[in-house]
Amino acid sequence: MNTDKGDRTIHILDPATVNKIAAGEVVERPASVVKELVENAIDAGAQTIRIDVLSSKALITGIRVIDNGRGMSPCDALLAFTPHATSKITGIEDLDAIRTLGFRGEALASIAAVSRVTLCTKLHKSGAVSGTRVVVEAGEIKEQGETGTPEGTNILVQNLFFNTPARKKFQKTLGTELAHITGIIEGLALAHPEISVFLNHNGRGVITTEQSSRLLDTIARLFGSTIAQDLVPVEYCNPIVSVSGYISRPAVFRKNANRILISINGRYVSSPPVNAAIIQGYGTLLSKERFPVVFLFLEIDPALVDVNVHPAKKQVRLGPEREICTAVRQAISGALLKSDLIPAAQVPDHPFSPGQSGHRDTRASYDFEPGRADGVSEPALKPTHAGIITTDRQLRQSELPTGILPDASIVPEMDVIGQFGGIYILTSTRSGDLILVDQHAAHERIMYELVSAKRESARRSQELIAPILLHRSARDSAVLRELLPSLAEEGFEIEDFGKDTFLVRAVPVVLGTLEQADLINEIVDDLSREETPRSVSNRERITRIIACHSAIKAGTACTQEQCRRLLQQLRLTHNPFSCPHGRPTMVRFTREQLDAMFKRT
Ligand code: ADP
Ligand code: MG
Repeated sequence: MNTDKGDRTIHILDPATVNKIAAGEVVERPASVVKELVENAIDAGAQTIRIDVLSSKALITGIRVIDNGRGMSPCDALLAFTPHATSKITGIEDLDAIRTLGFRGEALASIAAVSRVTLCTKLHKSGAVSGTRVVVEAGEIKEQGETGTPEGTNILVQNLFFNTPARKKFQKTLGTELAHITGIIEGLALAHPEISVFLNHNGRGVITTEQSSRLLDTIARLFGSTIAQDLVPVEYCNPIVSVSGYISRPAVFRKNANRILISINGRYVSSPPVNAAIIQGYGTLLSKERFPVVFLFLEIDPALVDVNVHPAKKQVRLGPEREICTAVRQAISGALLKSDLIPAAQVPDHPFSPGQSGHRDTRASYDFEPGRADGVSEPALKPTHAGIITTDRQLRQSELPTGILPDASIVPEMDVIGQFGGIYILTSTRSGDLILVDQHAAHERIMYELVSAKRESARRSQELIAPILLHRSARDSAVLRELLPSLAEEGFEIEDFGKDTFLVRAVPVVLGTLEQADLINEIVDDLSREETPRSVSNRERITRIIACHSAIKAGTACTQEQCRRLLQQLRLTHNPFSCPHGRPTMVRFTREQLDAMFKRT
């Protein structure tokens, strides 16, 4: 064997390089520093944590975290910067009972490897007059000594990534970095309502939470009382896991999963399987591409959770993952089933944006013009004979069974009081609330579920007695041609006749024997307009349009009997509280709200 040094290409890296490489995994960006330092403060039993982010010229220049926790002794303050130095575990078996957020002993070493850290700390109840000050730069101790400092720990991180130029360049815009930091602090603050957290940027307060035993207070502090008031509580327990927290009603939703916050044993983590279980728990109450607002707390025997799968501890591995996900799903669906999901009436503070002054609706409240066509002046429209017949036909169309029994409906029973402005159905519930239903949105929801259900059935097409001939512009024809396969799936039989002419031979059953070109033209108009987000599939778009076009229009006077039928059909839908576009179908005014408005309280 040739051991000549000249052939050697492998060598052991020096400790400084090793630390810098390891640091890259833990300290990905400024927000990672904030996360590690705040986690340390939580582990130190702090009751108050203050985070100051300093920036200049759109770059983060300093991060300071001050806590009133346990503090460190002079020798610990030095040792804390050594890689793999931790007070939290002594061996791997301790991970089975881990209750602290940290355990790797890497964070301070990693942060100090790529920045300049100034630590001031004094041990709690030590009685010592002074504390310890340590300055570490690029992993080397530069200064150490005594200093006057309160009990607890104060860490300042400056010159972040000064010796890793590539990483420094990666600092995104200040706004993005601050958003990441805010997100981290929100998650940590929610997981620990018992701690007061202050986040400041250049001295200005960004987040303030006050020590509270009520999670709802913390949610209100972070996200506003409007959101907090409208949440449904979750409480579920089985021998493996306890699930608690708050979730949004289906009428409140987001376009992404950013507001699904999960904490497992006090650790704020991202968990794709738990996220999926949450969405499943909502079932059909939530349509596709919609995400709820969720604050969920899982308590699991630490022995069943592997926390050591991610250098920045952002994820965990759940031993009995299937059982835990089932529990989450049941917790969510159970909570939704138990609660009343009609959103409370909330008048927006500024219904009209300033640029829109002189809007006719604003004027209508002072300047009442009888006979105006917008319905404001004619609350009680009289149904016409022809109108009654059309509405009856539309209601017959949607009278198909959906499989839900009336007594299992999540909508309370409502008695019709009357109709307002040809659009709102006024109702009262047994519990004495006033509920306003938007008749078009409600019928749209009914039709939408019907069209979706019909899609699977054998006979979804209805042949027209006389086919309809369509002439469209060249541009529209191109759109239509592209959509023919999707339209065929929904039950439209349309033949391309060439020269921008099409022959409609059959339409979906739910549209009835509707032999007017109007509706088809409207559908093509709608589909060629590119308003709907790209993420919505053609099939979904077509379903929504059919639902919209076949639904009872706003401005249609209905008889009491028709209103009653509509409400009954709505109660049989899977997701009665919002229309397919996500607008609410009903809004509730409680007796207390009305009393408050009339100053009766
Ligand atoms: P870990 O948190 O995984 O133990 P760190 O590198 O984050 O590793 O911290 C190393 C040690 O320094 C901790 O175990 C703890 O004993 C001590 N320490 C760090 N931050 C604080 C703090 N804010 N208050 C008290 N002790 C701290
Ligand atoms: Mg730590």
